[in-house]
Amino acid sequence: MLSVIAPLTSTIGRRTRTKPASTSASAHLRPTASPRRAPRKITILNNRASASSFVKARCLVSSYERLYIRGKIVPRGWEVAAACGLLLVLAVALPAVLRAGKKSEPQWARAAAVHEQSLSGRLPAATLGLAREIMAAMTAGTRWRGSFLYISRCTEEDDVHYATCCAAGTYARGGRLLVILGEHLAAGPPELAVAVLGHERRHVSGWRLYLYSLAAVASVWGLAVAGWAVPWPALLLVAAALRVVTTALFWTIEISCDVGSARDTSAGAMLAAVDYTERTRRGERALWPSWKRRAVIVLTCLAWPDHPPFIMRRAAIRALAR
Ligand SMILES: [Zn+2]
Ligand SMILES: [Zn+2]
Repeated sequence: MLSVIAPLTSTIGRRTRTKPASTSASAHLRPTASPRRAPRKITILNNRASASSFVKARCLVSSYERLYIRGKIVPRGWEVAAACGLLLVLAVALPAVLRAGKKSEPQWARAAAVHEQSLSGRLPAATLGLAREIMAAMTAGTRWRGSFLYISRCTEEDDVHYATCCAAGTYARGGRLLVILGEHLAAGPPELAVAVLGHERRHVSGWRLYLYSLAAVASVWGLAVAGWAVPWPALLLVAAALRVVTTALFWTIEISCDVGSARDTSAGAMLAAVDYTERTRRGERALWPSWKRRAVIVLTCLAWPDHPPFIMRRAAIRALAR
Protein backbone atom coordinates (compact mmCIF):
# COMPACT_ATOMS: atom_id res chain seq x y z
CA MET A 1 0.00 0.00 0.00
CA LEU A 2 2.79 2.41 0.82
CA SER A 3 4.32 2.01 -2.60
CA VAL A 4 1.01 3.23 -4.16
CA ILE A 5 0.59 6.18 -1.82
CA ALA A 6 4.11 7.54 -2.20
CA PRO A 7 3.95 8.36 -5.96
CA LEU A 8 0.55 10.05 -5.52
CA THR A 9 1.95 12.30 -2.81
CA SER A 10 5.00 13.25 -4.83
CA THR A 11 2.87 14.02 -7.91
CA ILE A 12 0.59 16.40 -5.96
CA GLY A 13 3.53 18.16 -4.37
CA ARG A 14 5.30 18.67 -7.69
CA ARG A 15 2.24 19.99 -9.54
CA THR A 16 1.25 22.36 -6.72
CA ARG A 17 4.67 23.96 -6.87
CA THR A 18 4.19 24.83 -10.56
CA LYS A 19 1.01 26.89 -9.84
CA PRO A 20 2.73 30.15 -8.62
CA ALA A 21 4.87 30.20 -11.77
CA SER A 22 1.73 30.98 -13.86
CA THR A 23 1.13 34.22 -11.90
CA SER A 24 4.72 35.34 -11.92
CA ALA A 25 5.74 38.64 -13.60
CA SER A 26 7.77 36.93 -16.31
CA ALA A 27 4.73 34.88 -17.34
CA HIS A 28 2.52 38.03 -17.76
CA LEU A 29 5.16 39.73 -19.94
CA ARG A 30 5.16 36.92 -22.44
CA PRO A 31 2.73 37.33 -25.35
CA THR A 32 2.12 33.62 -25.51
CA ALA A 33 1.26 33.34 -21.81
CA SER A 34 -2.56 33.18 -22.18
CA PRO A 35 -2.81 30.11 -24.47
CA ARG A 36 -0.80 28.21 -21.89
CA ARG A 37 -3.39 28.83 -19.11
CA ALA A 38 -5.90 26.31 -20.41
CA PRO A 39 -3.72 23.27 -19.94
CA ARG A 40 -2.77 24.59 -16.46
CA LYS A 41 -6.46 24.73 -15.44
CA ILE A 42 -6.84 21.20 -16.64
CA THR A 43 -3.79 20.29 -14.65
CA ILE A 44 -5.24 21.88 -11.51
CA LEU A 45 -8.53 20.04 -12.04
CA ASN A 46 -6.57 16.84 -12.47
CA ASN A 47 -4.73 17.63 -9.27
CA ARG A 48 -8.02 18.09 -7.42
CA ALA A 49 -9.30 14.84 -8.86
CA SER A 50 -6.07 13.10 -7.86
CA ALA A 51 -6.21 14.55 -4.36
CA SER A 52 -9.82 13.47 -3.99
CA SER A 53 -9.00 9.98 -5.25
CA PHE A 54 -6.03 9.92 -2.97
CA VAL A 55 -8.15 10.76 0.09
CA LYS A 56 -10.75 8.18 -0.93
CA ALA A 57 -8.09 5.59 -1.56
CA ARG A 58 -6.47 6.36 1.77
CA CYS A 59 -9.81 6.03 3.62
CA LEU A 60 -10.45 2.77 1.79
CA VAL A 61 -7.02 1.43 2.62
CA SER A 62 -7.39 2.55 6.21
CA SER A 63 -10.76 0.86 6.64
CA TYR A 64 -9.49 -2.30 4.95
CA GLU A 65 -6.47 -2.24 7.23
CA ARG A 66 -8.76 -1.98 10.24
CA LEU A 67 -10.92 -4.75 8.88
CA TYR A 68 -7.86 -6.87 8.17
CA ILE A 69 -6.39 -6.33 11.63
CA ARG A 70 -9.74 -6.91 13.30
CA GLY A 71 -10.61 -9.96 11.26
CA LYS A 72 -7.23 -11.62 10.83
CA ILE A 73 -4.95 -10.61 13.69
CA VAL A 74 -7.04 -9.74 16.71
CA PRO A 75 -9.41 -12.65 17.23
CA ARG A 76 -12.75 -12.58 19.00
CA GLY A 77 -13.32 -14.51 22.22
CA TRP A 78 -15.19 -17.35 20.57
CA GLU A 79 -12.43 -17.73 17.97
CA VAL A 80 -9.81 -18.20 20.69
CA ALA A 81 -12.07 -20.65 22.53
CA ALA A 82 -12.64 -22.58 19.28
CA ALA A 83 -8.88 -22.72 18.58
CA CYS A 84 -8.18 -24.03 22.11
CA GLY A 85 -10.96 -26.61 21.70
CA LEU A 86 -9.45 -27.69 18.39
CA LEU A 87 -6.06 -28.19 20.07
CA LEU A 88 -7.69 -30.35 22.76
CA VAL A 89 -9.40 -32.46 20.10
CA LEU A 90 -6.05 -32.81 18.29
CA ALA A 91 -4.33 -33.88 21.53
CA VAL A 92 -6.96 -36.61 22.09
CA ALA A 93 -7.00 -37.67 18.44
CA LEU A 94 -3.23 -38.11 18.03
CA PRO A 95 -2.91 -41.23 20.26
CA ALA A 96 -5.99 -42.68 18.57
CA VAL A 97 -4.41 -42.08 15.16
CA LEU A 98 -1.17 -43.76 16.28
CA ARG A 99 -3.12 -46.74 17.62
CA ALA A 100 -5.38 -47.05 14.60
CA GLY A 101 -4.13 -50.14 12.87
CA LYS A 102 -3.95 -50.76 9.18
CA LYS A 103 -5.39 -54.03 7.94
CA SER A 104 -2.18 -55.07 6.26
CA GLU A 105 1.16 -55.10 8.06
CA PRO A 106 3.18 -51.95 7.21
CA GLN A 107 6.40 -52.53 5.29
CA TRP A 108 8.59 -51.42 8.20
CA ALA A 109 6.81 -53.87 10.51
CA ARG A 110 7.49 -56.76 8.12
CA ALA A 111 11.16 -55.76 7.96
CA ALA A 112 11.27 -55.50 11.78
CA ALA A 113 9.79 -59.00 12.11
CA VAL A 114 12.57 -60.39 9.90
CA HIS A 115 15.18 -58.44 11.94
CA GLU A 116 13.74 -59.82 15.19
CA GLN A 117 14.13 -63.41 14.00
CA SER A 118 17.85 -62.82 13.54
CA LEU A 119 18.38 -61.76 17.16
CA SER A 120 18.58 -65.21 18.71
CA GLY A 121 22.24 -65.94 19.33
CA ARG A 122 23.24 -62.32 18.84
CA LEU A 123 21.92 -61.16 22.21
CA PRO A 124 22.29 -62.67 25.69
CA ALA A 125 19.39 -65.11 26.03
CA ALA A 126 18.36 -63.65 29.41
CA THR A 127 18.13 -60.10 28.01
CA LEU A 128 16.20 -61.24 24.94
CA GLY A 129 13.71 -63.21 27.06
CA LEU A 130 13.15 -60.30 29.47
CA ALA A 131 12.82 -57.82 26.60
CA ARG A 132 10.14 -60.00 24.99
CA GLU A 133 8.26 -60.18 28.31
CA ILE A 134 8.21 -56.39 28.57
CA MET A 135 7.09 -56.04 24.96
CA ALA A 136 4.23 -58.47 25.57
CA ALA A 137 3.18 -56.32 28.55
CA MET A 138 3.29 -53.24 26.28
CA THR A 139 0.51 -54.55 24.05
CA ALA A 140 -1.49 -56.85 26.38
CA GLY A 141 -4.98 -55.44 27.00
CA THR A 142 -4.30 -52.38 24.85
CA ARG A 143 -5.19 -51.30 21.31
CA TRP A 144 -1.62 -51.84 20.11
CA ARG A 145 -1.66 -54.68 17.60
CA GLY A 146 1.90 -55.83 18.10
CA SER A 147 5.47 -54.89 18.94
CA PHE A 148 8.83 -55.58 17.35
CA LEU A 149 12.31 -55.43 18.84
CA TYR A 150 14.97 -53.59 16.89
CA ILE A 151 18.59 -53.65 18.04
CA SER A 152 20.31 -50.48 16.96
CA ARG A 153 23.75 -51.36 15.59
CA CYS A 154 26.85 -49.43 16.63
CA THR A 155 28.18 -47.09 13.95
CA GLU A 156 30.45 -44.98 16.17
CA GLU A 157 34.07 -44.44 15.18
CA ASP A 158 35.03 -42.44 18.27
CA ASP A 159 36.27 -44.08 21.45
CA VAL A 160 33.29 -42.63 23.30
CA HIS A 161 29.93 -44.05 22.27
CA TYR A 162 26.83 -41.97 22.80
CA ALA A 163 24.42 -42.41 19.89
CA THR A 164 21.51 -44.80 19.45
CA CYS A 165 23.83 -47.74 20.22
CA CYS A 166 23.61 -46.54 23.86
CA ALA A 167 19.97 -45.47 24.00
CA ALA A 168 16.45 -46.85 23.77
CA GLY A 169 13.15 -45.58 22.45
CA THR A 170 9.76 -46.52 21.05
CA TYR A 171 8.45 -45.75 17.57
CA ALA A 172 4.66 -45.98 17.30
CA ARG A 173 2.84 -46.09 13.94
CA GLY A 174 -0.12 -47.89 12.42
CA GLY A 175 -1.08 -49.59 15.68
CA ARG A 176 2.36 -51.20 16.03
CA LEU A 177 5.34 -50.46 18.24
CA LEU A 178 8.95 -50.65 17.27
CA VAL A 179 10.95 -51.02 20.47
CA ILE A 180 14.50 -49.81 19.84
CA LEU A 181 17.34 -50.93 22.06
CA GLY A 182 20.96 -49.86 21.58
CA GLU A 183 23.50 -52.61 20.90
CA HIS A 184 25.65 -51.78 23.95
CA LEU A 185 22.63 -51.60 26.25
CA ALA A 186 21.41 -54.96 24.97
CA ALA A 187 24.84 -56.56 25.43
CA GLY A 188 25.25 -55.18 28.96
CA PRO A 189 23.74 -56.32 32.25
CA PRO A 190 20.11 -57.50 31.69
CA GLU A 191 18.86 -55.37 34.64
CA LEU A 192 20.01 -52.23 32.85
CA ALA A 193 18.20 -53.09 29.59
CA VAL A 194 15.09 -54.15 31.50
CA ALA A 195 15.00 -50.90 33.48
CA VAL A 196 15.33 -48.82 30.30
CA LEU A 197 12.65 -50.83 28.49
CA GLY A 198 10.39 -50.59 31.56
CA HIS A 199 10.69 -46.80 31.27
CA GLU A 200 9.85 -46.92 27.53
CA ARG A 201 6.87 -49.23 28.12
CA ARG A 202 5.15 -46.58 30.19
CA HIS A 203 5.55 -43.93 27.51
CA VAL A 204 3.06 -45.76 25.28
CA SER A 205 0.50 -46.75 27.89
CA GLY A 206 -2.48 -45.15 29.60
CA TRP A 207 -2.69 -41.52 30.63
CA ARG A 208 0.96 -40.80 29.81
CA LEU A 209 0.30 -41.18 26.11
CA TYR A 210 -2.51 -38.61 26.23
CA LEU A 211 -0.59 -36.25 28.51
CA TYR A 212 2.43 -36.43 26.22
CA SER A 213 0.21 -35.69 23.22
CA LEU A 214 -1.31 -32.69 25.04
CA ALA A 215 2.12 -31.32 25.98
CA ALA A 216 3.46 -31.82 22.45
CA VAL A 217 0.44 -30.12 20.83
CA ALA A 218 0.48 -27.24 23.35
CA SER A 219 4.21 -26.64 23.01
CA VAL A 220 3.92 -26.16 19.24
CA TRP A 221 0.35 -25.18 18.27
CA GLY A 222 -0.45 -23.64 21.66
CA LEU A 223 2.35 -21.16 21.08
CA ALA A 224 0.93 -20.38 17.63
CA VAL A 225 -2.52 -19.71 19.09
CA ALA A 226 -0.99 -17.54 21.82
CA GLY A 227 0.88 -15.52 19.19
CA TRP A 228 -2.40 -14.98 17.33
CA ALA A 229 -4.63 -14.21 20.33
CA VAL A 230 -2.48 -12.34 22.83
CA PRO A 231 -1.25 -8.82 22.11
CA TRP A 232 2.34 -7.72 22.55
CA PRO A 233 4.00 -7.49 25.13
CA ALA A 234 1.66 -9.68 27.23
CA LEU A 235 2.48 -12.41 24.72
CA LEU A 236 5.95 -12.77 26.27
CA LEU A 237 4.45 -13.69 29.65
CA VAL A 238 1.90 -16.07 28.13
CA ALA A 239 4.54 -17.79 25.97
CA ALA A 240 6.83 -18.21 29.00
CA ALA A 241 3.95 -19.58 31.11
CA LEU A 242 2.98 -22.00 28.35
CA ARG A 243 6.57 -23.21 28.09
CA VAL A 244 6.77 -23.75 31.86
CA VAL A 245 3.50 -25.72 31.89
CA THR A 246 4.41 -27.95 28.91
CA THR A 247 7.88 -28.61 30.33
CA ALA A 248 6.30 -29.55 33.69
CA LEU A 249 4.05 -32.02 31.82
CA PHE A 250 7.02 -33.56 29.95
CA TRP A 251 9.03 -33.86 33.18
CA THR A 252 6.08 -35.37 35.05
CA ILE A 253 5.77 -38.07 32.39
CA GLU A 254 9.52 -38.86 32.45
CA ILE A 255 9.65 -39.07 36.25
CA SER A 256 6.52 -41.21 36.28
CA CYS A 257 8.15 -43.60 33.75
CA ASP A 258 11.33 -43.73 35.87
CA VAL A 259 9.41 -44.46 39.08
CA GLY A 260 7.14 -47.03 37.40
CA SER A 261 10.11 -48.92 35.97
CA ALA A 262 11.96 -48.75 39.31
CA ARG A 263 8.93 -50.32 41.03
CA ASP A 264 8.90 -53.14 38.43
CA THR A 265 12.62 -53.88 38.68
CA SER A 266 14.39 -52.07 41.51
CA ALA A 267 15.40 -48.55 42.40
CA GLY A 268 19.05 -49.62 42.00
CA ALA A 269 18.48 -50.80 38.40
CA MET A 270 16.69 -47.60 37.40
CA LEU A 271 19.35 -45.45 39.08
CA ALA A 272 21.98 -47.38 37.14
CA ALA A 273 20.05 -46.66 33.92
CA VAL A 274 19.99 -42.92 34.73
CA ASP A 275 23.75 -43.02 35.51
CA TYR A 276 24.39 -44.77 32.19
CA THR A 277 22.40 -42.14 30.26
CA GLU A 278 24.27 -39.33 32.00
CA ARG A 279 27.65 -40.94 31.28
CA THR A 280 26.89 -41.25 27.56
CA ARG A 281 25.61 -37.65 27.45
CA ARG A 282 28.76 -36.36 29.14
CA GLY A 283 30.92 -38.52 26.88
CA GLU A 284 29.27 -37.01 23.83
CA ARG A 285 29.71 -33.45 25.08
CA ALA A 286 33.34 -34.06 26.01
CA LEU A 287 34.08 -34.55 22.31
CA TRP A 288 32.65 -31.15 21.37
CA PRO A 289 34.70 -27.95 21.25
CA SER A 290 34.11 -25.70 24.28
CA TRP A 291 32.14 -23.07 22.29
CA LYS A 292 29.67 -25.71 21.12
CA ARG A 293 29.32 -27.11 24.65
CA ARG A 294 28.53 -23.65 26.05
CA ALA A 295 26.14 -22.82 23.18
CA VAL A 296 24.23 -26.09 23.66
CA ILE A 297 23.95 -25.52 27.42
CA VAL A 298 22.62 -21.97 26.91
CA LEU A 299 20.18 -23.02 24.15
CA THR A 300 18.99 -26.01 26.19
CA CYS A 301 18.32 -23.77 29.19
CA LEU A 302 16.40 -21.30 26.99
CA ALA A 303 14.36 -24.00 25.29
CA TRP A 304 13.75 -26.01 28.49
CA PRO A 305 14.79 -29.62 27.95
CA ASP A 306 12.15 -32.32 27.52
CA HIS A 307 13.82 -34.51 30.17
CA PRO A 308 14.29 -33.38 33.77
CA PRO A 309 17.84 -32.91 35.12
CA PHE A 310 19.51 -36.16 36.18
CA ILE A 311 19.68 -34.99 39.81
CA MET A 312 15.88 -34.59 39.84
CA ARG A 313 15.33 -38.03 38.30
CA ARG A 314 17.55 -39.68 40.89
CA ALA A 315 15.82 -37.86 43.76
CA ALA A 316 12.37 -38.90 42.47
CA ILE A 317 13.40 -42.55 42.09
CA ARG A 318 14.85 -42.64 45.61
CA ALA A 319 11.82 -40.90 47.13
CA LEU A 320 8.96 -42.52 45.23
CA ALA A 321 10.07 -46.01 44.12
CA ARG A 322 9.28 -48.09 47.17
ZN1 LIG B 1 28.46 -47.85 19.98
ZN1 LIG C 1 11.40 -41.15 28.60
